[in-house]
Amino acid sequence: MRVWAVSNQKGGVGKTTSTIALAGLLADAGKRVVVVDLDPHGSMTSYFGHDPDTLENSIFDLFQHQGSVPQGLPAQLLLPTSHERISLLPSSTALATLERQSPGQSGLGLVVAKSLAQLWQDFDHAVIDSPPLLGVLMVNALAASQQLVIPVQTEFLAVKGLERMVSTLAMINRSRKQALPYTIVPTLFDRRTQASMSTLRLLKNSFPEHLWQAYIPVDTRLRDASRAGLTPSQFDGNSRGTIAYRALLKHLLAQQPASQVA
Ligand code: ADP
Ligand code: MG
Repeated sequence: MRVWAVSNQKGGVGKTTSTIALAGLLADAGKRVVVVDLDPHGSMTSYFGHDPDTLENSIFDLFQHQGSVPQGLPAQLLLPTSHERISLLPSSTALATLERQSPGQSGLGLVVAKSLAQLWQDFDHAVIDSPPLLGVLMVNALAASQQLVIPVQTEFLAVKGLERMVSTLAMINRSRKQALPYTIVPTLFDRRTQASMSTLRLLKNSFPEHLWQAYIPVDTRLRDASRAGLTPSQFDGNSRGTIAYRALLKHLLAQQPASQVA
């Protein structure tokens, strides 16, 4: 199994959309995919028609065993999605109680990595959606993954958030055997706006090695797909957004992943 995380300490930058778009394209290509919702808001869980406010069992259950994950539990939590080859490890609002715990102290940093290790035989790929906050959940996402996707909205404030994300990553890398490779993905790009164009230039100058050389455009079909509860490629395989995500997937698959953690 190959594990990717989609993270940024900022909301509304396209993390959930990117997670589902990439997972959908992998599944279209025949891969068995598990998507992991580590955001207490449960956007991805809601996207696929499950209510994070009323779910009785969720990823929260995995955190309730002092860092050891009972055998078989992750598989019991899986829920179906709109795609037959995508399963969801759902979030619930209970996760919010974990979100603000200090990452270093709890001993809970590898819960997701250990849980995914149990699903190794059943899936080819895992894609983890993250909360917009540095805490135990974000640390779990980064610790479990072999490649990191950082969506960045093409507007001025986004670059500041990105610098914060990159220093978080440096902190995580100190406790990993191998640095986590990452790709910065410009999102919500609108070529007609000054902000989009100049942010893209700034990103090119500031992060030349890690920046994906294309972008995800603003595409209302992506919003329509979320309203329909379908992956972007299920909803419209030829929309500008889907086409851009297809190119991104190709780029990510060509990269060398870090070795597995748990
Ligand atoms: P995050 O998970 O980082 O908070 P989301 O993926 O939920 O961000 O995106 C925030 C909002 O923007 C959602 O309503 C989503 O449908 C919309 N959105 C995301 N990417 C695009 C895009 N490329 N074009 C148009 N709308 C988008
Ligand atoms: Mg989200």
